[in-house]
Amino acid sequence: MDHFLYRGGVLHAEGVALPQIAASVGTPFYVYSTATLTRHYQLFHDALGDLPHLVCFSVKSLSNIAVLKTLAGLGAGMDVVSGGEYRRARAAGVPGDNIVFSGVGKTVEEMRLTLDGGIRQFNVESEAEMAALNAVALSMGKVAPITVRVNPDVDAKTHAKIATGKKENKFGIPISRAREVYALAASLPGLRVVGVDVHIGSQLTDLAPFAQAFEKLAELVVQLRADGHGIERLDLGGGLGIPYAQSNDTPPLPQDYGALVREKLGHLGCEIEIEPGRLISGNAGLLVASVIYAKSGEERDFLILDAAMNDLVRPSMYDAHHDVVPVIEPAPASERHSYDVVGPVCETGDTFARGRALPLLDAGDLVAFRSAGAYGAVMASEYNTRPLVPEVLVHGDHYAVIRERPSYEEILGRDRLPAWLDDSRKDA
Ligand SMILES: *Cc1c(COP(=O)(O)O)cnc(C)c1O
Repeated sequence: MDHFLYRGGVLHAEGVALPQIAASVGTPFYVYSTATLTRHYQLFHDALGDLPHLVCFSVKSLSNIAVLKTLAGLGAGMDVVSGGEYRRARAAGVPGDNIVFSGVGKTVEEMRLTLDGGIRQFNVESEAEMAALNAVALSMGKVAPITVRVNPDVDAKTHAKIATGKKENKFGIPISRAREVYALAASLPGLRVVGVDVHIGSQLTDLAPFAQAFEKLAELVVQLRADGHGIERLDLGGGLGIPYAQSNDTPPLPQDYGALVREKLGHLGCEIEIEPGRLISGNAGLLVASVIYAKSGEERDFLILDAAMNDLVRPSMYDAHHDVVPVIEPAPASERHSYDVVGPVCETGDTFARGRALPLLDAGDLVAFRSAGAYGAVMASEYNTRPLVPEVLVHGDHYAVIRERPSYEEILGRDRLPAWLDDSRKDA
């Protein structure tokens, strides 16, 4: 459920009519709902109930500082995958103690930054990373709290680009080698083992792969404890899917996920950490765009929007479906028309959707892409020198721009002419 509903025939974000935002911000823009973000965080928090737990929002899914601050205010921790995301979380006021650091390629600089600023744990993914972290920690006179990300070799049955838990993926350490790797960790004085980490993929629409992974994890915890390791925390990663097509997707609910965690892992007495991204942010955001032209082709009719693949890359990158809806609600019995919804970029891949039934639309009409909060704005680029798409946050009847559209002066001003091309410096 989200808070983007038609009121009086006009699509609103909570109490704010989208045409009002479009008039002041211009299109395209992303808009997020505070109430939806809050509700989704709360669902996870409640689902884990009396299990000791921390819900660490996956910053990579939607990393605007205003969004992070909204969630941190509810008690959320953060899962970061770079020094940049760590800086965002800290800028949002999240204490280092509530930040976990994931990712296969943490650099020495990122290790220094986070050890210095405070970190809950590093989710370590290789022996090479372990050696590097040990050396950095020792050089700073610190001990780095770690989990090892184990790869349980389960098939998450999701899109290949976001499946991470099979043995052929680059992530984590094969679960079959976990005991050996934990023994190595225990021998390194700059590291302190605090738990085990697992993350099997994203947009999972079935609980079965989670159940398989959690069973393997529970067995491993018993073995590791018998080997003498202090396993206090289990980081279960993120990955719960969301309904992108409101008509027919029915992914599992956080309540059912929570019940599964309790059933498979509750007896171990560990603190549970989860890293949901998409399920908190996905349906909390829309991308709103204007129609530039309605164009009739020989075989198909096109809606050419002022948003493009650089603003929302998921359809071209992951073959993702996003529901597209008109901002002005059509009369129930009004005629529908079949459109291919496309952007202006010179690539056939710049196609958002094919054959969508929409009311007749024309230049200047507004449309909204649903479920665009996660992996939307964060993956946007300035391809075609299209200014980075702005972001707006709604809170009840209020809204605010939380990332401005850059000016062309800013965009062009980042380029530099070398001396041999710079007419003003040629004589020097
Ligand atoms: C991407 C990622 C997440 C979040 O995944 P969602 O599908 O958005 O919930 C969590 N943990 C790790 C390690 C990730 O890479």
